[in-house]
Amino acid sequence: MDTYDYVIVGGGMGADAAARGIRERDENGTIVVLSADVDEPYTRPALSKKLWTDPDFTDDQVPLGTADDTGAEIRLRTLVTEIDRARRTVSTDDGGEVGYRRLILVTGSRPHEVDAPDDERVLYFRSAADYRRLRQLARAGARIAVVGGGYIGTEIAAALVQNDVETDLVFRGAVLGADTFPPDLAARYEQLFADAGVHLIANRRADTVRAGDAAVVLVLDDGTELERDAVVLGLGVSPVADLAVAAGLEVDDDGGGVVDERLRTSDAAI
Ligand SMILES: Cc1cc2nc3c(=O)[nH]c(=O)nc-3n(C[C@H](O)[C@H](O)[C@H](O)COP(=O)(O)OP(=O)(O)OC[C@H]3O[C@@H](n4cnc5c(N)ncnc54)[C@H](O)[C@@H]3O)c2cc1C
Repeated sequence: MDTYDYVIVGGGMGADAAARGIRERDENGTIVVLSADVDEPYTRPALSKKLWTDPDFTDDQVPLGTADDTGAEIRLRTLVTEIDRARRTVSTDDGGEVGYRRLILVTGSRPHEVDAPDDERVLYFRSAADYRRLRQLARAGARIAVVGGGYIGTEIAAALVQNDVETDLVFRGAVLGADTFPPDLAARYEQLFADAGVHLIANRRADTVRAGDAAVVLVLDDGTELERDAVVLGLGVSPVADLAVAAGLEVDDDGGGVVDERLRTSDAAI
C-alpha cells in the first residue's frame, strides 16, 4: 500500500488549490490526487464561457498544470469509496488502498437530475468531458434545449446561440434572472437573450427526457414535448459528502461537511 503525506480526494479546482497551498508550506511532502474525473484539474468556469466566446482561449489553456507546478501525483478515473479513519487509509473503486498522514476532501458537488436516459445527447453540464460532448453536438443549425435559468443554463444558452445553434431556454418564473436581479435589470437581461435569438420558455420545469433514434424529447411539466438534437440540464447542484457522512464526520443540515476556521473537520487529520 502506498502512503502519502497528503491525500487529496477530488480532482477539481479545489484539489489544485489544495496542492498549491500545501506546497507554500511544505516543499517536500508527498501529495497524491485521487480523482474520479478523466481529466487533470482544469478551470471549470471556462467550460461555459471563454471556450465558446473567446477565439484566443483554446483547449490547451484549460488544464491548471497541478502536477507540473506542485509535483503532486494525479490518479485519474479513481473513485474513492471509503475512508478508514482508524487506519488512516482510503479505499478506491479499483480495489486499491492508499494511506494518508493528512486527508483533504474536495469532492465538490454533483448536479441535480431528472428522469432521463443515459444518452450522450442528454447532458448535466459539469465536466470538461461534457464540454467536449456538447461541442460535437453544437453544430451550426442544431436544435438544443437548455433547462435552468441559473448560471449554467443561461451561460450555456448564451454560448450556444452565439455559435449558431437554435437554442431554447426553459426556466422557472415569469422573467429570466428574476431570482438574481431587480425587476428592471431582469427584464433587460431577458431581452438580451430574446434579441440574440434564444427561444425563451418561462414558468416551466423539465419533467422527463426520452431518447429516440433521431432526437431526444424533453417533456415539460405541462406536458409540452420538445424534440431536439440534445438537451442540457442546469438544475443546480448538491454537495458530495457521502464519504464524510459514511466516515462519521460532522455534516450540517444542507449536506456539507462542518469545518473550523482552518477548514478542519471533526477529525484533525482530515
Ligand atoms: C460550467 C461551469 C462554470 C462555472 N463558472 C463559474 C464561474 O464563472 N465563477 C465561479 O465562481 N464558479 C463557477 N463555477 C463553479 C465552480 O467551478 C465550482 O464552484 C468549483 O469548480 C468547485 O470546485 P471543487 O474542486 O470544490 O469541486 P468540483 O469542481 O465539483 O470537483 C470535485 C471533483 O471531485 C471528484 N470527486 C467527487 N467525489 C469523488 C470521490 N469519491 N473520489 C474521487 N473523486 C471524486 C469529481 O469527479 C470532481 O473532479 C462553474 C461551474 C461549472 C460547472
